[in-house]
Amino acid sequence: MSSKRSIETTCIQGGWQPKNGEPRILPIYQSTTFKYSTSEQMGRLFDLEENGYFYTRLANPTNDTVAAKICEMEGGAAAMLTSSGQAANFYAVFNICEAGDHFICASTVYGGTSNLFTVTMKKMGVEVTLVDPDASEEEIEKEIRPNTKCIFGESIANPALVVLDFEKFARIAHRNGIPFIVDNTFATPINCRPFEWGADIVTHSTTKYMDGHAMTVGGCIVDSGNFDWDAHADKFPGLTTPDESYHGIIYTQKFGKAAYITKATAQVMRDLGSIQAPMNAFLLNIGLETLHLRVPRHCENALKVAEFLKSREDVAWVNYPGLKGDKYYDLAQKYMPNGTCGVISFGLKGGREAAAVFMDKLKLAAIVTHVADARTCVLHPASHTHRQLTDEQLVEAGVDPSMIRLSVGIENAEDIIEDIRQALEA
Ligand SMILES: *Cc1c(COP(=O)(O)O)cnc(C)c1O
Repeated sequence: MSSKRSIETTCIQGGWQPKNGEPRILPIYQSTTFKYSTSEQMGRLFDLEENGYFYTRLANPTNDTVAAKICEMEGGAAAMLTSSGQAANFYAVFNICEAGDHFICASTVYGGTSNLFTVTMKKMGVEVTLVDPDASEEEIEKEIRPNTKCIFGESIANPALVVLDFEKFARIAHRNGIPFIVDNTFATPINCRPFEWGADIVTHSTTKYMDGHAMTVGGCIVDSGNFDWDAHADKFPGLTTPDESYHGIIYTQKFGKAAYITKATAQVMRDLGSIQAPMNAFLLNIGLETLHLRVPRHCENALKVAEFLKSREDVAWVNYPGLKGDKYYDLAQKYMPNGTCGVISFGLKGGREAAAVFMDKLKLAAIVTHVADARTCVLHPASHTHRQLTDEQLVEAGVDPSMIRLSVGIENAEDIIEDIRQALEA
């Protein structure tokens, strides 16, 4: 399942494998289209009878090379890049859910994802039930319906920092013949590989640690190839019955372990077109080359900052799953013993008002709508990313109105702490 070489080596050497005389560095195939010698050959590509590129809205070699690297990092069977994390999560679910279908999602997922699932996909006729990720196996399983097609959660929720109990969710999904999809953006495959804990499909907002420099918005979907669609063929007709838009091919018969990703590319990407620009894929690849160096440093710095915040009188609470005593410390030790992520959430005793004053006083840490890049930054979810949610929905999403989300960068830890100290005392 997982690759033989270590993930550090895959970060550098995965993906692009130049042949004799080819460029050492992954080229940017900055081309919308690809040339063929015969009309018949082009026809076979359109029928998916032959492998090859023909139009970048569906697929591009630069993108596929970077997707192959992420696929190897996660220990998957097939992968694709998308233009954003939002597109990745939408495609991952929409590829197997259509109007009239239902799925289950952890209530603590990222605000953008929750909006996509509960508002936008609802308009498309797909219904979602949000469940408390800490609820018992029985309680969650009660939400399964005959038309439920998948279960979705985040390995570490943004920004609630809830660590998902992968094995619990995988058991529920597999007992009911449906796949378990995990958004692994915050943990990254450096700290956690969800396929090793029963996830079937992994998604990423590559915008975060994978790019790591706040340069490019992007997403990725990786399929483990482990879910047996044919064994539950009645639930997944899109994969197991003829696709009229491809002269009746059946994805599972023709593509085996690549069926899910092939359908997502040939059908969903073809029709919706959220392709990542090859230039962005190239930049993402540079980020991936240092992911194994940056992520441990983010975690090391975040732990120091979390310990500092915990020691302060003016800080009401601190959430960081890497911190001893945190509600999710034990789950984190089980599923991601080498580290969690660089994001901390905390609240000041002065509440919402004190948060605004504190944030304005920071000098090194900047207020930006971003997390998980090299630079330390802060955000107030209730007034920024989650402002579309009501107070009730905020609580359900694990977001206290006083919550400050601090994304600890890879600067010197003492400098970051000093900046926080002066802002708290100002
Ligand atoms: C940011 C984020 C997304 C959305 O990704 P974009 O690249 O911003 O579209 C999805 N899931 C998680 C966990 C995120 O942090």
